[in-house]
Amino acid sequence: MLIVKRYTVCIVGTKGLDDFPPFYRPQFAVYSAIEHQRLQTQFNVCIFAAMKNIVLFGPPGAGKGTQSAHIVEEFGLFHLSTGDIFRSNIKGGTELGILAKGFMDRGELVPDAVTIQMLESEAGKHPGQGYIFDGFPRTSAQAASLDAFLDAKGQQIDAMIALEVPEPELRDRLAGRAETSGRPDDANPEVIQNRIDVYNAETAPVAEHYRAQDKFQGVDGVGSIEEIFIRISEVLNSLGTTA
Ligand code: AMP
Repeated sequence: MLIVKRYTVCIVGTKGLDDFPPFYRPQFAVYSAIEHQRLQTQFNVCIFAAMKNIVLFGPPGAGKGTQSAHIVEEFGLFHLSTGDIFRSNIKGGTELGILAKGFMDRGELVPDAVTIQMLESEAGKHPGQGYIFDGFPRTSAQAASLDAFLDAKGQQIDAMIALEVPEPELRDRLAGRAETSGRPDDANPEVIQNRIDVYNAETAPVAEHYRAQDKFQGVDGVGSIEEIFIRISEVLNSLGTTA
């Protein structure tokens, strides 16, 4: 029996797109596991399974949002940022937004029950694509709930990619971002410090959850956006080629 999977195909070798068989040129191609092997060796391409689920991890200001945009473009995953979803609820004046705003303005975490329910509801609207989780999970309870949520769908987290950036650089980046982001939680140094403290106390330990599952991948988060994206891509490609 052939296992048919859905893959994103990206060219990493020296061959151009024109050298690639027309059938496989669309971003998503459906073909068999045997074809997967053949394409990889014959055309020197990397093939990334689009159904991968990735946690993009790191402290505030590490560049998760910026890198997520590139990952979405290159690898076709669906981006789920809990911070973005909360902000769009605040903008829309929803009950959820009103509830979340106080916590966010103080640099505290929104309670787990609310956050988990929101995340699951948003993820449920976009099945079958593979997710990049940005800003979630931020507590051990969120990590356990995410495992259970994916497990019920016969899926799992394939890797946690942790962007590693020293604290002084984080503070500089957030102060710079405040000038353009319009985010109240970027504009106040005390709130920034609280977000970093909350990260160290409650969120950093979540890495252990994925280390224990052998899924933790640390990536140097200092450098240009392009340099960091290349490092992330190397991790993602290694997941794809071992699928
Ligand atoms: P972010 O955009 O990821 O920096 O998140 C902004 C703020 O949204 C955080 O400081 C928290 O107040 C809230 N938030 C985002 N994601 C979560 C989460 N997974 N759990 C709890 N609060 C969150």
